[in-house]
Amino acid sequence: MDIEGFRKAGYAAVDRICDYYASLAERPVSAQVQPGFLSASIPTSAPEIGEAWERIDNDYHSVIMPGITHWQHPNFYGYFPCNASFEGALADLYCASISNPGFNWSVSPSVTELEILMVDWVGRMLGLDEAFLSTSGTGGGIILGSASEVALTVAIAARERCIDRLTPQHPMPTVHNGMNGVGSLDADQDVASAGQSAAEVGADATLVANTRLAKWRGGLPSRLVMYGTTQTHTIAAKAALILGLDFRALPVSAESSYSLSGATLAAAIAEDVALGRVPFMLIATIGTTSSGAIDNLPEIVEVVAKHPTLWLHIDAAYAGVCLSLPELRAEMHLDAINSAAVDSFSTNLHKWGLVQFDCSPLHVRDRGDLSRALSITPTYLRTKQADAGNVLDLRNLQISLGRRFRSLKVWFVLRSYGLEGFRKHLRTTMQLANHFESLLRADDPGLLEIVAQPRWALVVFRMKPKGEGCDVEQLNKAFWDDLEAQSAHFVLTQTSLPEVGFCIRFVVGSPQTQRHHVEQTWKLVAQTARSTWARFKS
Ligand code: PLP
Repeated sequence: MDIEGFRKAGYAAVDRICDYYASLAERPVSAQVQPGFLSASIPTSAPEIGEAWERIDNDYHSVIMPGITHWQHPNFYGYFPCNASFEGALADLYCASISNPGFNWSVSPSVTELEILMVDWVGRMLGLDEAFLSTSGTGGGIILGSASEVALTVAIAARERCIDRLTPQHPMPTVHNGMNGVGSLDADQDVASAGQSAAEVGADATLVANTRLAKWRGGLPSRLVMYGTTQTHTIAAKAALILGLDFRALPVSAESSYSLSGATLAAAIAEDVALGRVPFMLIATIGTTSSGAIDNLPEIVEVVAKHPTLWLHIDAAYAGVCLSLPELRAEMHLDAINSAAVDSFSTNLHKWGLVQFDCSPLHVRDRGDLSRALSITPTYLRTKQADAGNVLDLRNLQISLGRRFRSLKVWFVLRSYGLEGFRKHLRTTMQLANHFESLLRADDPGLLEIVAQPRWALVVFRMKPKGEGCDVEQLNKAFWDDLEAQSAHFVLTQTSLPEVGFCIRFVVGSPQTQRHHVEQTWKLVAQTARSTWARFKS
């Protein structure tokens, strides 16, 4: 495709995208296809001779689109939302046009500098303390692709910090990783890559890795324990699994609204320490996936403050954006989040934050914790700006080398919506969820019940057990089958909660959803409950 071909194809694609949005509500919400459907339409290998663009584009619409579930559909109420905005789409288009791996400041200064600024914008929008911003000199962060990537990255840093604190024979490098202004490092930064000793910079990467690995061999790593709760997203268990470390899911109860208490954490730590284990990380959650629960951060930070080897990460992948709403900050424990015991915080702007997938800003109190664990600088990655200590190279704060230019979409979206528009989006979707909740509570035959305190834009419900011997688990699985059969009309998702069992989640998040969509879906859900019950009891 040449430039003029792209101009024409680009205009046509934007037209088709506009038509797509205009027709979203008429489309089946969920893809109505069977596994393997695509192999009938796509050849088993790439064509030898290139094909005409019109043909390729048409195939996208006729072959691929039927297998797409429309997460932007007004009746998509499943999982958590994955918002899209036109501003975000345009940013992604611009990013694609300059395709750029942005690993060092020098490979595209704007990529690094905009990201540092946007992490600060997001931090300020959420009310995070100055310590989590680059302007503090040591704080700030990076934008990664997912909450899972964030958890793994932070776990690597937490492991390194814990081992360093416990093994004086392997002291941390003395270099600082502070910044005096955007993209610059402290004047006493003496090496190209924050966190690496001067001897390591430019050294053979295998040697560097092996030298660092030596400290894992003392047996300490096999004793490290990561904590979360039974409600923590799999990001924790997966990070522990990848690193070969133990993950302990602490119990939470329906009575405490599935919130981790300080007492439960303290008891688990005491038990592990008595067994010779080393607590190194806790992932606390604000807004769990199954019920939107908030761990008891004021109690948790008091416990964590007594254990200097413990890294406290807050996963607010879904609900974190609500810290932009002053009226929710107390309930979300902003004071505790900003206390010195919290090492890192992350939310996904690509969920409810109007920014296209993928966009997970990670805020840390000390960027040096990441770079000390993750930077390796062979000669081919050295630059004169980094050698002079004038810049921050974001590759040193992450696992991969190359990185997407994610900050552009944050910049476009936050400028275009403004903080006021961003907050309005959150408040509007929460009001719609409240509406669904009140319809459900007012339902006449009383077949349904809410099983967890509704939070954010999430309502978790199920069919009530009725009569002696009613198998509520089977009843709700049958109800779920009946709901799922209507996935062309609406999408909900299933979960299970301790002491409740199988239940159903309804989450509003799409900017396309209006009151009448919620009412229409409520009617279908209520009718389904009646027909499931009629079938079940007979
Ligand atoms: N944390 C919570 C609370 C979530 O709800 C989710 C996904 O829904 C995640 C983490 C995982 O997000 P990601 O897909 O960005 O890894």
